[in-house]
Amino acid sequence: MRHVAIVGSGPAGYYTAEAALKQWGDDVRVDIFDCLPVPFGLIRSGVAPDHQSIKGVSRRYEATALTENVRFVGNVLIGRDVSIPELRELYDVVILATGAPNDRKLGLPGEDLPNVFGSASFVGWYNGHPEFAGLDPALSHDTAVIVGNGNVALDVARILAKSQNELHGSDIVAHALTTLNVSRVRRIVILGRRGPHQIAMTPKELGELAHLERACPRVDPADLPDEAEDAALDPGLRKSVGHLRAFSRTGDADCPSDQVTIEFDFFAAPKRIIGTERVEDVEVERTRLENGKAVGTGETYRVPAGIVIACIGYQTSKIPDVPFDAAGGRFANEDGWIAPGLYCVGWARRGPTGTIGTNRPDGYAIIEKVARDIGEGAGKAGRPGFDALAEQRGINYVKFTDWQKIDEAEVANARKGAPREKFVSVERMIEAAGKR
Ligand code: NAP
Repeated sequence: MRHVAIVGSGPAGYYTAEAALKQWGDDVRVDIFDCLPVPFGLIRSGVAPDHQSIKGVSRRYEATALTENVRFVGNVLIGRDVSIPELRELYDVVILATGAPNDRKLGLPGEDLPNVFGSASFVGWYNGHPEFAGLDPALSHDTAVIVGNGNVALDVARILAKSQNELHGSDIVAHALTTLNVSRVRRIVILGRRGPHQIAMTPKELGELAHLERACPRVDPADLPDEAEDAALDPGLRKSVGHLRAFSRTGDADCPSDQVTIEFDFFAAPKRIIGTERVEDVEVERTRLENGKAVGTGETYRVPAGIVIACIGYQTSKIPDVPFDAAGGRFANEDGWIAPGLYCVGWARRGPTGTIGTNRPDGYAIIEKVARDIGEGAGKAGRPGFDALAEQRGINYVKFTDWQKIDEAEVANARKGAPREKFVSVERMIEAAGKR
């Protein structure tokens, strides 16, 4: 019998559990830990609330979760409630699948001003992550600045631009819907420090901007390279750039004053965030490309802004007793191997890149490695050992069946047309699970 502990119940965690089941069938017991009482990590708290079809992948994870040999152990923070050395003592292998839930910092003056956020907190706010539910962003100014040219920047711009009607069928949480309902944001400026050929935005996500009820995406034609140069791009990027070209053909007459404009400002690196009580302006420096890198030209200008959201990538949370690669923002690892019996997978291994599906081969690859290393298992205590420790420490963990009660209550609480109304505090989740 092999005893496997997976820390993190997002895509990387569940694909790894699925791979462990395929590899060992009834000869494995997998415990999936999560610091929240609810599973699915990024699917619940990161994927945009209006992308319900993407969230549907959690049904696949549910199939894994409901097998006897896999169990969910929620509301347990590894590194605080139970240490990594303790887990390693109890299980043949500990696999960290904790994702990358923390914001990378811009490292600019003024970054700590009120109403300047990183995407982890802003996305966490509208997705109802308990840590960020109280963020209370002010949307009282006409202009929002988004930094970064990746898909998260697009998610944030789209949520800010959408009408209440368009958000209706999403699982955006009530507090965010209420704030967005009275939002005064009519101009969204997306700053890209490099150019249209260097974006990290995928075609489907970029194309969505063209179909919003009241949004008008705009690109300055002067920022676009010669169209002939698109031929050298990868097909996906070429398609994305095609969307930017279409946006560049939008004239003033196509953008009535009641529309929200989404302006792509390329070759634009933020330098300083300015304000007293809260952010008022972003100072931006024009850049040019040198060997693919953005280099400042010295020319600066200000964009007045009431809110700034930096969507510049994420990093993994540190865990005591696990070596961390600060430059990469992930655990220090060699192809997933950290130390004997300790591995990482997904964003915690490779950094925040790729799609949700990228985690599937990642999970299978890590189990192949683990299989070579742990053989038939070393007779560790596994589940019963953990349960004894939990009892001794008074850890009242949340099981998958408890989550199903939370799930049912969230579905029952949904406003009309929405899939669910999430609980945004751990206390309310625990209450709904009947654990209090
Ligand atoms: P990302 O794709 O890595 O994009 C980060 C962006 O921030 C890049 O344009 C980068 O520019 C820019 N940037 C980084 N540091 C900066 C700085 N100091 N100043 C200005 N700009 C800076 O990250 P992400 O958007 O957070 O997405 C993370 C992952 O999740 C990606 O794999 C993404 O595709 C995925 N995702 C997918 C979906 C979807 O499929 N619907 C939705 C959301 C996220 P440079 O290129 O110049 O470094």
